[in-house]
Amino acid sequence: MVSGKSERNKAARPRQMTLAAVRGFMEAIAASNPEPETELDYSTPYSLLVAVVMSAQATDVSVNRVSRTLFAEAPNPEAMVRLGVDGVARHIRSIGLWQAKARNVVELSRQLIEKHHGEVPRDRELLEALPGVGRKTANVVLNVAFGESTMAVDTHIFRLGNRTGIAPGATPRAVEDGLIRRIPREMLRHSHHWLILHGRYVCKARKPECWRCAGAKWCLYRDKTPMPDPDIPPGRAQSENPKP
Ligand code: SF4
Repeated sequence: MVSGKSERNKAARPRQMTLAAVRGFMEAIAASNPEPETELDYSTPYSLLVAVVMSAQATDVSVNRVSRTLFAEAPNPEAMVRLGVDGVARHIRSIGLWQAKARNVVELSRQLIEKHHGEVPRDRELLEALPGVGRKTANVVLNVAFGESTMAVDTHIFRLGNRTGIAPGATPRAVEDGLIRRIPREMLRHSHHWLILHGRYVCKARKPECWRCAGAKWCLYRDKTPMPDPDIPPGRAQSENPKP
């Protein structure tokens, strides 16, 4: 006989997809975009690193807007150090946390010159030692600039890992480790982008668009969003206008 307590524990445990379902889900969301790319504009590992540092709590679109003029004036670490904190700030004032970001961009450029011959190191520890660079930024740079199979867990991937059951976890690191362990090895290289793009455009935070989700068949989310009723004007809740 199963006790009430163990039933409750079972109900509280996050649900997890089978490995076969993880493969099915990932193949389904990858099918329409086999070679996904970052939406940040960059041309070198250095401009990618700076763009990712600037993207904390800012959209890729807003970062691209400021990076265009910033990289035109300072395309490499030497020019960025010459531009200085005030000069960088002039370009990036429209994005969140611009003061701290301007300081970090100049200081990380200085450290790249002093410690790494002006090059972006292909090494997690060395990347994470740079100002403004945490595990997520290092993962993006290692993945996008150097082709490594890392998993940068941002807000979208953290939500998807838990919501779908691919890799439930209480912290970004737990979700990262779960995804690395559970996604088929040959799919890992691009999975970070497939998941981010899916979270950004389909499996949205407030209202996932499950009716048009290629992975719905495998997803374990209980409250899937049904197809909207075309007769209901946009902005009006579905429940306000029930079908007869
Ligand atoms: S079915 Fe819905 S909740 Fe599940 S992954 Fe797709 S959009 Fe997200």
